[in-house]
Amino acid sequence: MKFDRSGVDALMEITSRPELVFIRGQGSWLEDHTGKRYLDFIQGWAVNCLGHSPAEIVKAVNEQAALLINPSPAFYNLPSMELAKRLTGASCFDRIFFANSGAEANEGAIKLARKWGRLNRKGAFKIITFEHSFHGRTIATMSASGKPGWDTLYAPQVEGFPKARLNDLESVRALIDDQTVAIMLEPVQGEAGVIPATSEFMHGLRKLADEHGLLLIVDEVQTGMGRTGKLFAYELSGVTPDIMTLGKGIGGGVPLAALCAREAVSCFEHGDQGGTYNGNPLMTAVGVAVFDALTATGFMDAVNARARQLSEGLMALSAKWGMKGERGEGLLRALMLDRDDGPAIVEAARDWTPEGMLLNAPRPGLLRFMPSLNVTAQEIDLMLDRLDEVITKVRR
Ligand SMILES: *Cc1c(COP(=O)(O)O)cnc(C)c1O
Repeated sequence: MKFDRSGVDALMEITSRPELVFIRGQGSWLEDHTGKRYLDFIQGWAVNCLGHSPAEIVKAVNEQAALLINPSPAFYNLPSMELAKRLTGASCFDRIFFANSGAEANEGAIKLARKWGRLNRKGAFKIITFEHSFHGRTIATMSASGKPGWDTLYAPQVEGFPKARLNDLESVRALIDDQTVAIMLEPVQGEAGVIPATSEFMHGLRKLADEHGLLLIVDEVQTGMGRTGKLFAYELSGVTPDIMTLGKGIGGGVPLAALCAREAVSCFEHGDQGGTYNGNPLMTAVGVAVFDALTATGFMDAVNARARQLSEGLMALSAKWGMKGERGEGLLRALMLDRDDGPAIVEAARDWTPEGMLLNAPRPGLLRFMPSLNVTAQEIDLMLDRLDEVITKVRR
């Protein structure tokens, strides 16, 4: 098939994309318009936790589409209730509101915290967030994010999101005042370059929140649903948050997200929150299928075995090339390069022949790996071998 420019020109230009079109995907592999195959270690940005077009999702979509697509959010539907029960049963949360994207779930978390502050904390509304954090692309979630440049891009921002530094408890304490209602963070900062919050920091935040009557909100849009080797990343530290948001992996590739809260914080009243597609059975049926796959016996053991393999392989590459090591949790990992040739490596890996490979460089000096959670040992070995070849070529 030829690459068709006219279709490209009909799209808004929002990012630079390579001149190729993906036609189909299966597991860890994608195929473009020329029939070339790519080993995919991006997986829709840590979204396709079961790989491309997994049988479980195909079946759930087909069966649910034939049964009931959209009764309206004003009525109950079975898949949303099934998924809510599974999420509350597997976590410390009691109530779920389904959304269509991570940003929308985070908007819900912000609203819930502000409402809780109005009811319980004399209108306190400020939510302390972190430098370099990423919470989405709506106006409020961009304001909550600490991405450089976003403070002025669509100014004025939504107010009330002072920024602290990750793993620096004093920087958080210094921002707390009478108007502070919550602290919100990613347990592993993803877009910032896979930077885990330390366990000590998580415990410190919980203590600080309890001392000042604040809510602790974890944005697990990227880290949730098995990505870090636990079903939810907050389990890594054992700290109990008050609110959690999920996205990406929860739908395995379809638009689904969730706002999860403990009973005492679930203070929305009728009319406070809603949305046309929220909790629709087509997407939540997929969520049920994904949840059941991730929680099947042995699944998370395999994730942790692959995580160790990937971590060790990246360490070996780092040692061989004199790089700065690797970091991450589970199958969300980064290789710290010794120079800013991340983008060149990403491009060379993609253009490799006869088979390409998809990697991501969220920062020039760093590569991020987010394969499907059911990636095989052979696929990880293949990626590591090929990465070594690509680095050899780029640095020759
Ligand atoms: C991707 C991401 C979001 C935004 O999710 P969308 O579905 O793109 O709106 C929010 N928070 C984190 C931590 C993310 O990684």
